[in-house]
Amino acid sequence: MNRLHCLGCGQAAYLRNDWCTRCQAPLGFSTEQWAFMPLDAAEARGERPCAHRDTGLCNWLVSAGDPHVHCLSCRMTTCLPALGRPEVDQPVYWLELAKRRLLLSLRELGLPALPGETRLPLRFAFLEDLPDQPPVMTGHAQGLITVNIKEADPRRRLDEQLAMGEVQRTVLGHLRHESGHFYWDEWMNEDPASLARFRDLFGDERSDYAQALADHHAQPRPWDPLQPAGMISRYALAHPWEDWAETWAHYLLMLDGLSEPDTDEAEAESASAQAPLAGDLVRHTELPALLDQWLSRARHGNALNRALGLPDVYPFVIDAGVSTKLGFIHELVRKQASSR
Ligand SMILES: [Zn+2]
Ligand SMILES: [Zn+2]
Ligand SMILES: [Zn+2]
Repeated sequence: MNRLHCLGCGQAAYLRNDWCTRCQAPLGFSTEQWAFMPLDAAEARGERPCAHRDTGLCNWLVSAGDPHVHCLSCRMTTCLPALGRPEVDQPVYWLELAKRRLLLSLRELGLPALPGETRLPLRFAFLEDLPDQPPVMTGHAQGLITVNIKEADPRRRLDEQLAMGEVQRTVLGHLRHESGHFYWDEWMNEDPASLARFRDLFGDERSDYAQALADHHAQPRPWDPLQPAGMISRYALAHPWEDWAETWAHYLLMLDGLSEPDTDEAEAESASAQAPLAGDLVRHTELPALLDQWLSRARHGNALNRALGLPDVYPFVIDAGVSTKLGFIHELVRKQASSR
């Protein structure tokens, strides 16, 4: 059975589903049950659909007794452009979906993320460029993750990807990356031993950050498919914080990929074929074994794409330097997950 399924009939349900493809029940995602529930069963428990369900933006539920009209996820978005325009509604839909996937992953890893769980509240602003205003910059400050909604327009995102010489650029990748900055702020200043280890592995973050980013963006960027040694991406070269955020995003990507079942429905009915929950993987698997599992899966994806004549779906190299950095993140996540 999929880690997400309809509590009414057991059918796999995916993040986008708002009805069950087997029992046809309208579904809502219950943050109490951490599963999709048929709406009538949810409403019998006092849960109700998020106010954004009517606009097609959200399929989560508001818990019984919660006075808000929006679900936990929608409430974490504190700023949105005026909806009701296709050029805004579509990108906001993809951003909100990616945000719910991120929240799901963080929760399954055992990491604090939802309102009330973190030192600084984690919030999101999805903004559009406006005439006569400076362009909206994607980034993180004080718990607020800002993303320019043009990142959810595939044509504009591809332009940006090519201009920056990146091998991949996704909305989910942005959110994961910015969540790395968020957790760095949450954890490192409270934990001198981890901060010292961070500086050993990633470098000294006290170098001038604004200048480092300005220098990075000022460099001409010829297309270069090769990854720098010890770094998961070219952007990681910009500053130790960017290296951390890029590596963090990659760690989340791997765990997400490993928690996604790669069996068909019939096979997946047997317990042994269940995809492990990310939290169980983190608790019970050392990083080398986790990388073995992940790279085996990635090789299958690449083989399929090569046969189709498409670029590698996983164009990354995990060398010894990247592996050591991922190992540090793995231990931090373990520590956080077990302290909750
Ligand atoms: Zn069902
Ligand atoms: Zn919602
Ligand atoms: Zn960054």
